[in-house]
Amino acid sequence: MSSTPHPLDDARTQLAEAIQFLGFDDGMRRMLETARKEVTVAIPLRRDDGTMELHIGHRVQHNISRGPAKGGIRYSPNVDLNEVRALAMWMTWKCALLDLPYGGAKGGVQVDPLALSTRELERLTRRYTSELIPLIGPGKDIPAPDMGTDEQTMAWMMDTYSVAMGHTVLGTVTGKPVNLGGSQGRAAATSRGIVYTTLNAMESVGLKPSQTTAIVQGFGKVGRGAARFLHEAGVKVLAVADVYSTIRNDKGIDIPALEAFVDETGTVKGFPGADPIPPSELFAIPCDVVVPAAIEGVITEQTAPMIDAKLIVEGANGPTTPTADAILEDKGILVVPDILANAGGVIVSYFEWVQANQSYWWTENEVNERLRARMDRAWDEVTAFSRDHGLSLRTAATTMAVKRVAEAHVSRGLYP
Ligand code: GLU
Repeated sequence: MSSTPHPLDDARTQLAEAIQFLGFDDGMRRMLETARKEVTVAIPLRRDDGTMELHIGHRVQHNISRGPAKGGIRYSPNVDLNEVRALAMWMTWKCALLDLPYGGAKGGVQVDPLALSTRELERLTRRYTSELIPLIGPGKDIPAPDMGTDEQTMAWMMDTYSVAMGHTVLGTVTGKPVNLGGSQGRAAATSRGIVYTTLNAMESVGLKPSQTTAIVQGFGKVGRGAARFLHEAGVKVLAVADVYSTIRNDKGIDIPALEAFVDETGTVKGFPGADPIPPSELFAIPCDVVVPAAIEGVITEQTAPMIDAKLIVEGANGPTTPTADAILEDKGILVVPDILANAGGVIVSYFEWVQANQSYWWTENEVNERLRARMDRAWDEVTAFSRDHGLSLRTAATTMAVKRVAEAHVSRGLYP
């Protein structure tokens, strides 16, 4: 699907554009594009049938200039070190852009989580976490969910770390279950943030929710909530896709009915309220807003030319390649970049960490209001910077973030 085998190339191209604008020298460029610490671990897994399998896992801490490293853990058969490096770099920019006191990190295990039983997933997670113990912790590096992991994964990680420390450390990871030091509103935060930003972007191009149509790629933790909140805002969702099927209904998909169907069956495939279409046709559907909320590298020089929309709001990390960005710009399609659009997840992760460290819990309303305030502020800052300097929203956002990280680095000075 991707024309760029390594999202790391995309991440570095985006960084290079920011550095060119900022006029940094080569030493600073190397510092910013290189991860501070990378760990690769072998994870032997005993399957339920008694056989043993080996999985490779990584944790990359891209930057810690502004605070502890922060970022999710991905379980996917496609995980490789370069992908984790790219995702870690994007986390650094995302946290800096939203002014969270964090650096950036990402972890990943090359495994298909759907092929494992719950007990196998638990063993894999605990062994991976044990390997990371010297590296992680509330003041050092705070993991969270990403593709293929969820609040149960985070509960096992927190427990494994806490057992090793000899006491419960709620701030070890974020995205935990609410009954175990998780935050109200964390589960829906990424999707909520995407929709707050989509509504801001729609307003900026003169789109009213009741007259707006959208398509959503991905119906997992992020895409599903994005579809729901768009639907609740009055936007008509014409098509959605998951890994099994792509479905379309030009009258608008009944998202609550689709959610009930997915709860039953685990997939959008076979939903009676829409027609199946080939996945390759998703991006060709004329609409106002495209929300890629699955994986990186899906809007490429092949797919960008077929997009007939006004806005692309990136729910996934790295869904648009730099070549596709240029094509979309020529077509006059506004791209709201991932590090702005999908930052709701890590914002509420930050709230969760703050609450856990203080043992004082906020209501869901408080969480959502503070989330909205931060997303709205970031939207205003990025659009102003983009206007003032004639930059795309992506380059504006990356530039603002890179500048903050570099300033922190310079203020701290080099040791020794
Ligand atoms: N995995 C999410 C992301 O890519 C959340 C990271 C976090 O909460 O630390 O932004």
